[in-house]
Amino acid sequence: MPEPPHIGVLALQGAFDVHAKRLTELGAKAHLIRKPDELKELDGLVLPGGESSTFLWHLELAGFYDVLKAFVQSKPTFGTCAGTILLASEVLNPAQKSFAVLDITVERNAYGRQNDSVILQEETSLPGGPLETVYIRAPRIARTGAGVVTLATRDGSPTLVRQGHVLAATFHPELSEDRRVHEYFLEMVRASR
Ligand code: GLN
Repeated sequence: MPEPPHIGVLALQGAFDVHAKRLTELGAKAHLIRKPDELKELDGLVLPGGESSTFLWHLELAGFYDVLKAFVQSKPTFGTCAGTILLASEVLNPAQKSFAVLDITVERNAYGRQNDSVILQEETSLPGGPLETVYIRAPRIARTGAGVVTLATRDGSPTLVRQGHVLAATFHPELSEDRRVHEYFLEMVRASR
């Protein structure tokens, strides 16, 4: 049996425990990451949903920002919702600092109040038919650069995208029974090892 991939879930704030549970169910070794030196042995990392501005505040406070930036620049990383905002090259509404490892423009809280939280079935290029997507105060991807592959869409806007070692969803795949997005990420991690 090959050694299971070691996947970190940034656990400073937000929806980290459900990601860890899902990753464990899928055969990975999940680690909750709260300090910069805990990134060392990881094969991949999940940046969960939450509040991206609060994440930034915690990261700066803990002297974590630069170490995390170096990680996401080179190792498989999966951002969901607020995590996607942290990875984007441009953030709007309002403009915000980000790691800029994924060539997209995101608009925070873009789907309006009545749609703050909604569950949809979306078209996806992942095998297995429509994807169940759970949205909570979600950002919208307003632009994708040339190197970005779109894997799912909502009303024509990309909602699941990949650029090389970076995967990002504007929804919360950990809150759906559908495991395909985490499976896809673990495949990316295995391929990179
Ligand atoms: N609205 C949050 C933000 O702007 C993201 C919401 C989420 O992660 N569910 O950071």
